[in-house]
Amino acid sequence: MTDSPTQRVAIVTGGARGIGAAVSTQLAVDGYAVAVIDLREEDTAGTVAAIVDAGGRALGVGADVSNADDVTRAVAQVADDLGAPTVLVNNAGILRDNLLFKMTEGDWDAVMAVHLRGAFLMTREVQKHQVAAKWGRIVNLSSTSALGNRGQANYAAAKAGLQGFTKTLAIELGPFGVTANAIAPGFIATDMLRATAERMGITFEQFLEGAKNEIAVRRVGQPADIAAAASFFCSEAASFVSGQVLYVAGGPKA
Ligand code: NAP
Repeated sequence: MTDSPTQRVAIVTGGARGIGAAVSTQLAVDGYAVAVIDLREEDTAGTVAAIVDAGGRALGVGADVSNADDVTRAVAQVADDLGAPTVLVNNAGILRDNLLFKMTEGDWDAVMAVHLRGAFLMTREVQKHQVAAKWGRIVNLSSTSALGNRGQANYAAAKAGLQGFTKTLAIELGPFGVTANAIAPGFIATDMLRATAERMGITFEQFLEGAKNEIAVRRVGQPADIAAAASFFCSEAASFVSGQVLYVAGGPKA
C-alpha cells in the first residue's frame, strides 16, 4: 500500500476488538488509511499494529462516540493526521440486556446513547468531509435483533432505529455521492456475546454450540463475515447500492 496523498481515509468506531477490528483491517487491505476509534486510545493499539505491520496506515483515537465534544475532536484529529475521512463505519456498541419489567432508564439511555446518538454525532461530523469530497461511504451496524429479541427492548429499538437512520442518510447524502447502508449481523462470535454467555451462566463454548444448530449454515458468524460485507458497501463497485439493510446471519431468519 502506498502513502499517497490521495489515499482515502476510513473511520471505524469501536474498532479495538470484535467486528470493528475485523472491519478496520479489511478496509486497510482494501487500500484505505484507517482511523480506529474506541473509548480508550490504548485499546486500539492491537488493531493499529495489525494494520501497520501489514504495511498500511492507521491511527488510534480515544473517544466516546456519544459525547459531542469527543466526536468533534476525534474527527478533527483524523483529518489532521491521516486526511479527510470519507468512509465511516458506525460500529461501536454496547448491550444492557434485561426483560422490560426489569429494564432501568439507565439501561435504556446507555444503549440509545452509544448506538443512535453515537451514530448521529459521528455521521454529522464526517459528512462535512464527504460532502466536500463529493464522495463517501457510510456503513451502520444494525442487528437481527432489530426484528425483535427477548430481553433486548432497548437494543432492538436502537438497531431498528439505525435502519431508519441509514435510509434517511441515503436520501439526504446521495446527491453528494455518498451512499449509506446497514449490515444486520446475526450471531457473531465476539466478546460482546461472551458477556452474554456469562450472564446466562453457561460457557462461551456451550453458547456457540447451541447457537450454531439454530443457524441454517450450521456455524456461527465470525467478524470476518461482517468485514466482507462492509468491504463491499465501501467499494467503488457498490456506488449504486444505497439505503439497504443486508442481513448477514447464515440464513434467512434472525
Ligand atoms: P464488542 O466486541 O463488544 O466491541 C464493541 C467495541 O465498541 C468495544 O471495543 C467497545 O469498547 C466499543 N465501544 C463501546 N461503547 C463505545 C463508545 N461509547 N465509544 C466508542 N467505542 C465504544 O462488540 P461486537 O460484537 O464486535 O459488535 C460490534 C457491533 O456489531 C455493535 O454495534 C453490535 O451491536 C453489532 N452486532 C454484533 C453482533 C454479534 O453477534 N456480536 C450481532 C449483531 C450486531 P469497550 O470494550 O471499552 O466497551
